[in-house]
Amino acid sequence: MELLFYKDAYLKSCRATVTYAQEGIVRLDKSIFYPTGGGQPGDRGWIETETGDRIEIIEARKGESHEDIILILKEDAPLPAVGTNVITELDWDYRYGHMRIHSCLHLLCASVVGDVTGGQISASKGRLDFNLPDTQIDKESLEASVNRLIEEDHPITQDWISDQELDANPSLVRTMSVAPPRGSGKIRLVKIGASVDLQPCGGTHVKSTGEIGLIKIGKIENKGKQNRRINLTFAD
Ligand SMILES: [Zn+2]
Repeated sequence: MELLFYKDAYLKSCRATVTYAQEGIVRLDKSIFYPTGGGQPGDRGWIETETGDRIEIIEARKGESHEDIILILKEDAPLPAVGTNVITELDWDYRYGHMRIHSCLHLLCASVVGDVTGGQISASKGRLDFNLPDTQIDKESLEASVNRLIEEDHPITQDWISDQELDANPSLVRTMSVAPPRGSGKIRLVKIGASVDLQPCGGTHVKSTGEIGLIKIGKIENKGKQNRRINLTFAD
């Protein structure tokens, strides 16, 4: 299966061929749908068949392998025929919200000194958990630094790197805010600006930080020993 959202996160629609359709699950030969994972919800959208059915997809999920994505259909939706061509379409407002919040969590990660232990993304808000000792976080100054990075409109780019290239460049690992996974062969690195943030990530991002729009830092919660949860939402 071709994972189109990796190449172009802005692809809202594409033609595809149905390779599997059974019991409310559809597989295609290519996917603009990001599957649930890494704290980011799976995409929603529609499949339009040659016979004019418009079938609702309620969630894209990971299937049996990394390159296998299954589309969960709305209950009682008709199944498209295997081998036929369809047009797929993203619920773009939902996805674009995830792209903006997800990108903003990279900025939050870059603005807080501490290891990330978890996170959650929705279309209008997000949060990250940090392993932090009992220090005070100044909400106003944190909000100001994240918003400054947004207003500076840094480009967000991606690169693929092999395990071997990573081993050959240990300094690269030191500059990453999150340690890369090993053994998968290929790692996708997401870079913001020249040196704002660099980390391995498989999610979808906007192309520059200005697209995020200004944010507000919400509650900062204590979640157990050394675990600090920082919430954020869009300012408007
Ligand atoms: Zn990311």
